[in-house]
Amino acid sequence: MELSIVIPLLNEAESIPELVSWINAVMLKNNFTYEIILIDDGSSDSSWDEIIKAQKANPNIRGIKFTRNYGKSAALHTGFRAAKGNIVITMDADLQDSPEEIPGFVQMVQEGGFDLVSGWKKKRYDPIFSKNLPSKFYNWTARRMTGIKLHDFNCGIKAYRSKVVKSIEVYGDMHRYIPVLAKWAGFRNIGEKVVQHQERKYGRTKFGIERFIRGPLDLMSVMFISKFSKRPMHLFGVLGSLMFLIGFVTALYLGINKLIAVYSNKPAALVTDSPYFYIGLTCMILGTQLFLAGFMSELVSRSATDRNKYLIDEEI
Ligand code: UDP
Ligand code: MG
Repeated sequence: MELSIVIPLLNEAESIPELVSWINAVMLKNNFTYEIILIDDGSSDSSWDEIIKAQKANPNIRGIKFTRNYGKSAALHTGFRAAKGNIVITMDADLQDSPEEIPGFVQMVQEGGFDLVSGWKKKRYDPIFSKNLPSKFYNWTARRMTGIKLHDFNCGIKAYRSKVVKSIEVYGDMHRYIPVLAKWAGFRNIGEKVVQHQERKYGRTKFGIERFIRGPLDLMSVMFISKFSKRPMHLFGVLGSLMFLIGFVTALYLGINKLIAVYSNKPAALVTDSPYFYIGLTCMILGTQLFLAGFMSELVSRSATDRNKYLIDEEI
């Protein structure tokens, strides 16, 4: 089979019929052999019924239904494991990405030799302040931190050589950084393709303000895991020494001040009288602890056995 089209969806019932018939039309026009894998990520609307209906009409459609909402990363991961095609395409279910783009992506992987091709919503139809500007900032940061020259890391539409998706593990909210995971798995040939973007036709966005917190944290986790998971001391050692140095210099400064005051017979206040002494001290200790705890638990979660085990309710 040539193509697996993996589509995670949460409460997108209105979009499903239109989406699958559009994809089907594009597939027929281009003579692709294909499967569409729809992953119902715990929808509470009639999405699953729509999937069953679509599947009855078109045997190329497969459906996987989670018992509850596990998140887009979990849905993608499950779709990746299920995919049988040589090339795997992901896209959102909300009709913001157009199925007409698929042949272009396929060509870049097949003939351009790319391992991964990511879409770029150059002209984007989403709210400016809540989506477009923050996303520019994210992408800039991600580019700087990872050295991957993409403009739109989190674009829903992407194409992969099958072995890429079989070699990476997407969990948490890491669907935002799949190119980073791919690069660290050794697939360096990452391309970009400008895509048309539409306004959301039905329903509304599933990602609220929590993404402002999760996004940067997951980027840090991705960077940490890819760079330091085999040598945590290189990070913790440097940070620890730095913290210690700051603390030591502060203490030294307070101590010397005190000594000078004592020897020149001036009235000297106790260094511990200054509230900033305690505030600074506590913050530094807490900060270090939190940081370490965060990354340590990340390491633990990487080796946890129940990671990426999602309960599947039904499969067709
Ligand atoms: N989605 C999902 N699980 C979730 C959240 C979103 O499967 O927990 C799907 C959603 O149905 C859509 C895609 O992920 O197909 C992208 O979501 P959305 O369009 O809401 O994101 P936006 O385009 O606003 O960034
Ligand atoms: Mg969308």
